[in-house]
Amino acid sequence: MARVSASRPMAIVVLGAAALDTARRIQASFPESRVHGLAGRVDADIAYEDFGAHVRGLYASGVPIVALCSAGIAIRALASCLADKGSEPPVLAVAQDGSAVVPLLGGMSGVNVLAREIGAALRVAPAITTSGELRFGQCLLAPPEGYALADIEQGKRFVSDLLAGQTTRIEGHAPWLDDAALPRAGDARLAVRITPFVTRDADSLVIHPRCVLAWIEDISREDDIAERVRIALRERHLAPLALAALTAPARHMASQSLEDAARALNVPLRFCNAAPFDRTDAKDVALHVGDAPIEAQSIGRARGTLTVIGLGPGSAELMTPAAKTALNDAQDVLGYETYVRMAGPFRADQRVHMTDNREELQRARHAFELASEGRRVIVVSSGDPGVFAMAAAVLEALDAGRATHPEWSAVKLAIVPGVSASLATAARAGAPLGHDFCVLSLSDNLKPWSVIEKRIAHASEADLVMAFYNPLSKARPWQFDRAIDIVKRYRDSNTPVVLGRDIGRPAEALRVVMLGELKSELVDMRTMVIVGSSTTRVVGDWVYTPRWYE
Ligand code: SAH
Repeated sequence: MARVSASRPMAIVVLGAAALDTARRIQASFPESRVHGLAGRVDADIAYEDFGAHVRGLYASGVPIVALCSAGIAIRALASCLADKGSEPPVLAVAQDGSAVVPLLGGMSGVNVLAREIGAALRVAPAITTSGELRFGQCLLAPPEGYALADIEQGKRFVSDLLAGQTTRIEGHAPWLDDAALPRAGDARLAVRITPFVTRDADSLVIHPRCVLAWIEDISREDDIAERVRIALRERHLAPLALAALTAPARHMASQSLEDAARALNVPLRFCNAAPFDRTDAKDVALHVGDAPIEAQSIGRARGTLTVIGLGPGSAELMTPAAKTALNDAQDVLGYETYVRMAGPFRADQRVHMTDNREELQRARHAFELASEGRRVIVVSSGDPGVFAMAAAVLEALDAGRATHPEWSAVKLAIVPGVSASLATAARAGAPLGHDFCVLSLSDNLKPWSVIEKRIAHASEADLVMAFYNPLSKARPWQFDRAIDIVKRYRDSNTPVVLGRDIGRPAEALRVVMLGELKSELVDMRTMVIVGSSTTRVVGDWVYTPRWYE
């Protein structure tokens, strides 16, 4: 039996610390799942602010939900999204102490299977309430992975016929029904039919094995690829739900129309050097019908992805949902050790490659190599990946390497922004960046110190607020004081300066000093320095730069 959770990691949602123990017991049996806890109250893997909004968001994205709370709380939270019965993820309520497991929603997506697995983990009998399940020990309407129910409405009628006393035959190969307590009879009028072919027969429960591959060689034609595949399937009376994957030559890996077609057909897209089966005809779309479900992952390779994400300054709330999604989807995670740890915890199926901070180009090349193998790779930066971080290093690697590694250009590259340290620090202090500002890195590792001095002088002269990244390190002990000396030539010693250290992290510290008092002892490499302009002012505990100019 395919585990529901294997394809979709579930969210174990807890409200209070009392439920954490049970949550971790469930998680032990589902290592790919995450515990979601109320921010500030529970030390969970993922923090949320508002229970209702959070579970509705999970539900809308199809994530299986195990809510460690009363059934009433869970039902009320989801009440407004229950109209569409067809596409709901499994939702279960589990008593905080683990004494009861109640499947609530998702009968078609395997909630009862999940309830049994969680019940087994907690050693309690799940409260299964579905009548077909109770009688037959298996929900006929939720076939395992590799199979798809043709028509839910027809399925429901079929199950109620069985419940009313009818018998059934099984036509085709349905190994998961071997042990089901179905009322079988060889001469029954009703039949469970396992077939890739379209079957319109009121007496059948039709289940399609995903055993068909489509191969498309010519993508230069104007017309829609998905439609061409649908036509080819129709000509052979094959059901679209029987399609296991769309396959195409590796040279078309970067094609957007192939990607759109696979999405429209709702199947994985795999690339091979040659058709993954013997072509018996020269048709536009070649089809192969296997005699058992085909695992798309076993065919050729996927188009690899390389996503460079920014984690924000440190805390989970300041990480964008897009970055969280990318982390969740990743197979390989690369980055500087500190940031990779910040991005965790990772599932057992995710590979983590930690490197030293200085090895940025090598890391970027490694990321392209992994992505070229078809893997989903992410490279993590703190803050924003485009601000003195990995996004530029990745593009430098592509720029230098694409002539010798043409396969790198086929990788699907994306950059996901993050909250940069200057913005996070500014927000804590008020609005010091409320008017024109510039950001400068004081590190002379990759640029000559003379350039830095010149830029500081010009920025000071232009009366820009300045945000200094990398202000100081053990290897660069004197540079910061030199930089400040230059600023002081142009700016009053009463100019407010914001010092943010470890912003968004547990050791967060914020200080406001006047330029006259600023010296290197006050900063280190974990500090963000924002030097105000001539208009920057202090109001109570806040620092801001007005939007107007005198
Ligand atoms: N990509 C990162 C910056 C990397 S450079 C970003 O957009 O934030 C590293 C420098 O950023 C550090 O030397 C420090 O000056 C600053 N920095 C990064 N995280 C910080 C944090 N949480 N608090 C204060 N400064 C931080």
